[in-house]
Amino acid sequence: MRWVLGIHGGAGLIARTHLTEAQERAAREGLAAALDAGSAVLDGGGTALDAVQAAIVVLEDHPTFNAGRGSVLNAAGDVEMDAALMDHDQRAGAVAACRTTRNPIRAARAVLEDGLHVLLAGPGADAFAAERGLAQVDPSAFLVDARREQLARLQSYGGYALDHDAPKGTVGAVALDVHGRLAAGNSTGGMANKRPGRVGDSPVPGAGTWCDARVAVAATGHGELFLRTGAAASLAARVRFGGATVADAADAVLAEVQALGGDGGLLALDASGTLVLPFVSGGMYRGWARPGERHTAIW
Ligand code: ASP
Repeated sequence: MRWVLGIHGGAGLIARTHLTEAQERAAREGLAAALDAGSAVLDGGGTALDAVQAAIVVLEDHPTFNAGRGSVLNAAGDVEMDAALMDHDQRAGAVAACRTTRNPIRAARAVLEDGLHVLLAGPGADAFAAERGLAQVDPSAFLVDARREQLARLQSYGGYALDHDAPKGTVGAVALDVHGRLAAGNSTGGMANKRPGRVGDSPVPGAGTWCDARVAVAATGHGELFLRTGAAASLAARVRFGGATVADAADAVLAEVQALGGDGGLLALDASGTLVLPFVSGGMYRGWARPGERHTAIW
């Protein structure tokens, strides 16, 4: 079986005129590095779950993207991060509103492997990650200047918004390994200027993240609408019970999100290796790889 990897670095308006050459280069380099990390796992016969995690760790550590270091700030000026991982057998692990865990996706993996719960939130999530030996950092370690400036700008006109005028977004990945197994994951700082304690769709299985034996989904966009439409589970149900292709199911789900006033995009991958990366926003940072192939795109 040929492996497949898809990644996203967030969807938004991403006006070409707003993005400097240096910003575009940084984003594409980050996407390429994440694809390389995930591809190395898959090339070596590793699991889709490990590949998804490896790709997301690279993007969390990259200050360009809205996850880990470089996360957007909430209305109080703090970083609160959400992440989820889901495997082909529907094992899932997620964390929400983390403040000190360096790589929230590793915490999601620890929750998945532990198996008792699916979603841990707030100080309990960070404490669990610390207990499992995962690196904890001072919350200031996630802050980058561009995010402080963005918060000031949003607060000057009362905006609670997708990261429309900044060249950055949530990160996620889907993969199919040589054993035919799928996995999906997402990691995010959420929406800029969100209320403290707000949790989006990314860490909620069935909303922003989903995986079963047939389809893996990682969404990005206005999280409230992906929660309200149960987007990722709806996509999987269209494939499983409705016999839809991943492409048609993905379009139908994004149309629902859009009809309710949201925008965004997603990665959907089926067990035969069909990968789609549609979006209903100005752009979506994304990339995909197969043996001997690697591509990145924004618009
Ligand atoms: N879906 C994320 C959230 O609502 C944000 C994003 O994907 O940009 O938290």
